[in-house]
Amino acid sequence: MAQVVIIGGGYGGILTAIRLSRRQNKAQITLINPRDHFVERIRLHQTAVGTKPRRLSIPEMLRGTGVHFQQGWVTEIRPDHKTLCVNTDQGVITLPFDYLVYALGSQTRRDQVPGVEQYAFSLDLHSVEGLKPALTQLGTQAGRVLIVGGGLSGIEASAEIAERYPALKVELITQGELGSNLSPEGRNYLRQTLTQMGVGLREHLKISRVEAQQIITVSGETLPYDLLLWTAGFNFSPLAQSAGIKVNGLGQIIVDPELRSVSHPFIYGVGDAACVLLPSGRAQRLACATAMPIAAHAADNLAASIARQTPRALAFSYTLICISLGRRKGLVQWVKGDDSPTSRITTGFKAAVIKELICRYTILSFYLARRFGGFYLWSQPKPQSGFAPAIR
Ligand SMILES: Cc1cc2nc3c(=O)[nH]c(=O)nc-3n(C[C@H](O)[C@H](O)[C@H](O)COP(=O)(O)OP(=O)(O)OC[C@H]3O[C@@H](n4cnc5c(N)ncnc54)[C@H](O)[C@@H]3O)c2cc1C
Repeated sequence: MAQVVIIGGGYGGILTAIRLSRRQNKAQITLINPRDHFVERIRLHQTAVGTKPRRLSIPEMLRGTGVHFQQGWVTEIRPDHKTLCVNTDQGVITLPFDYLVYALGSQTRRDQVPGVEQYAFSLDLHSVEGLKPALTQLGTQAGRVLIVGGGLSGIEASAEIAERYPALKVELITQGELGSNLSPEGRNYLRQTLTQMGVGLREHLKISRVEAQQIITVSGETLPYDLLLWTAGFNFSPLAQSAGIKVNGLGQIIVDPELRSVSHPFIYGVGDAACVLLPSGRAQRLACATAMPIAAHAADNLAASIARQTPRALAFSYTLICISLGRRKGLVQWVKGDDSPTSRITTGFKAAVIKELICRYTILSFYLARRFGGFYLWSQPKPQSGFAPAIR
């Protein structure tokens, strides 16, 4: 029996575990995650404003699959010995593996600008737990909330906070242009909607440092705040780099088109923690929209490797970018397979419904994969005639 250890029980890790369990019967699979419940990371901006998260038990998700769940924190990978160390409630244990799936996700980068670590909240689980009461307390006062980062999580958080706490003065600050990955139509709708919701927009503003109640920009401007939410940039686990696995400048493991580490082919990279070059030649968007197809494909390639068959290159294309703007509005930016925007957008309540359905589909996918032989649906390039959805 091959020993497969999957580290990280996020969107990527869980789908890999379930699909792999359904696609071969010659491996013992272990999934390691620090918590025994699944964190719906794509809803953390909702959790921040008080929406109670559903409690989704990982052992329950894995029920009947034969996947062994180990709660714990991976502290070291030893590729040369094919072992890893896990800190558990019972002490440190060492686990052997034949194949490793590296699915440790990402966090907000907090070490780039001085003061962020000390004074800012972020949309990471540990910080959201403190952000929630802080927002509730500030919510009734006309306090000032600054949100830094014009990516999707900063946009979604600013809309969510402005809608939930209309008395607050909410401002969204970006270093570049807001919604730079959207079409002009998408950007216009985004600006118009956020402004209607009372979100102040400050673009092309670079921050040099953060102090106790103000941020200082590179040009010397000071912006006071009562609460600062930092969403700019990503950070990745240092484990791969420490283990001598080849990583890029950010710490994501570099994988080949078959999703195997270029330095250690028995290690597969999945989700945010992997640097995947897509068929379009672009790096992947850090999103569960990418993490899950990559995970499904990695499971198939692992099953092939275990059966001594040849793994296949990842085939995948994007279809949309979906942004929630509070609970009643949203924006769907339709994109080409390479993730570049088209001029087509869907907006308003219809987009909010699409977004909600997508969030539900992520969780539903685990149960569908468990029930129907690893089933997962994603969009792939259609040979010759551009990109079109296909089922695998
Ligand atoms: C507020 C917000 C909204 C978002 N909205 C969207 C959206 O609408 N659509 C979209 O596609 N994407 C969205 N994203 C991005 C999406 O959440 C991530 O791309 C996705 O979670 C990546 O999945 P993953 O499995 O790679 O990592 P994760 O989901 O981050 O899971 C990684 C897991 O690894 C565990 N882990 C880390 N280190 C260790 C260790 N040393 N030992 C053991 N376990 C460890 C973590 O605890 C975690 O459980 C959003 C993100 C945020 C923050």
